[in-house]
Amino acid sequence: MQGVKVLVIGSGAREHALCRSLSLDPDVTSLHCAPGNAGIAEVAVPHAVDPLDGEAVAGLAAELRADLVVVGPEAPLVAGVADAVRERGIAVFGPSAEAARLEGSKAFAKEIMAAAGVPTARSYVCTTPEEVEEALDAFGPPYVVKDDGLAAGKGVVVTSDLGAARAHALSCGIAEGNGRVVIEEFLDGPEVSLFAVTDGECVVPLRPAQDFKRAHDGDEGPNTGGMGAYSPLPWADPGLADEVLATVLQPTVDEMRRRGTPFSGLLYAGLALTSRGVRVVEFNARFGDPETQVVLARLKTPLSGLLYAAATGRLAEFPPLRWSDDAAVTVVVASEGYPAAPRTGDPIEGLEEVAEKDAPTAYVLHAGTRRDEEGRVLSAGGRVLSVTATGADLAEARERAYQAVSRIRLAGSHHRSDIAARAAEVTGGAGEAGGTG
Ligand code: AMP
Repeated sequence: MQGVKVLVIGSGAREHALCRSLSLDPDVTSLHCAPGNAGIAEVAVPHAVDPLDGEAVAGLAAELRADLVVVGPEAPLVAGVADAVRERGIAVFGPSAEAARLEGSKAFAKEIMAAAGVPTARSYVCTTPEEVEEALDAFGPPYVVKDDGLAAGKGVVVTSDLGAARAHALSCGIAEGNGRVVIEEFLDGPEVSLFAVTDGECVVPLRPAQDFKRAHDGDEGPNTGGMGAYSPLPWADPGLADEVLATVLQPTVDEMRRRGTPFSGLLYAGLALTSRGVRVVEFNARFGDPETQVVLARLKTPLSGLLYAAATGRLAEFPPLRWSDDAAVTVVVASEGYPAAPRTGDPIEGLEEVAEKDAPTAYVLHAGTRRDEEGRVLSAGGRVLSVTATGADLAEARERAYQAVSRIRLAGSHHRSDIAARAAEVTGGAGEAGGTG
């Protein structure tokens, strides 16, 4: 389809990555975003519309005569924004609120996985302090305690400290008698994020990536929304994507359809490659941030056609995806105090320098940024920038990403210095864990 008009919903670096790919897509003639950020506004027309207001988003899509709406974050999906757009007869990439429960409720995701025979950690859903005690006792340390609802990746505590595990469970509403927590078996082994595009029936896996959730080097510090990512995974089995398609993604999509709540959009499987095989840690109902930044950096197939095919139930006819052999690395620059208490409102310098000296192999994707009246770019959130680079291998991509990071000046900011460090040392490995997609 040519001459496509696209509206992207969201304001993070993930949406900037989506907008960047769409702006480079020859089929896209007009690109809009709501609400966007300072970086997105350079490639898409920004609209000051509340991304959680389904009627407002659908109204904007209709007014723009958008051919395709792409919903980035989870909160609008869970709030039914994709449903509101779909009701107007506009193609939307993103699941219904019902289907987004795969992410919105960990207990629901567990139920679907059990019904579909998808391998995951054994778990108990607890609503009382007594049930919490029993579950913690049954599994033993390390304890894994998850708030049942959406918590932007921050509702999970993994700890060997029984008191801390108990306290987290109680803080999720259990103490007041109005919460639910999932307590589950600890999964060992490296984690992998695998995204798949689906129209509710056909499932096309993208390339695996790995993200870094902890705030500090060496996986120390608190959990965050994600501090960096890389792809490909030179240490992983090249058959991984196909295996996960067969054992996880397709059975889950089939089960959702069987229940009358088909899942279309982006199904994100967070996986642990344990000593006993692949296990699902979690599902998300949207592109992951920051993995999207590296996965899209490697996708050669124009993005709009793929997302439109998924949104209109025509994925089975879509040609096989084309991928670059390049590696990609993203390093997140976060504001002082992130994740606990991010400081905002500071000027960001060095962005032009990166554009002049490092493009096109390294570039800056904006997350929490805004422009002030004088046109200066200011920090406006916890994760501020996703500095992304490509290279012939991970070592080169990494070097370019950190070179670009070194040009950025933001008072008090922090970033991890070990993104993709170990993976970059794996050479002549098994090759791409790619899959047929
Ligand atoms: P989630 O929001 O479920 O992805 O959990 C956030 C992070 O907590 C995951 O990326 C893992 O690093 C960790 N985690 C979650 N569940 C488990 C588990 N069963 N065993 C070990 N680590 C886990």
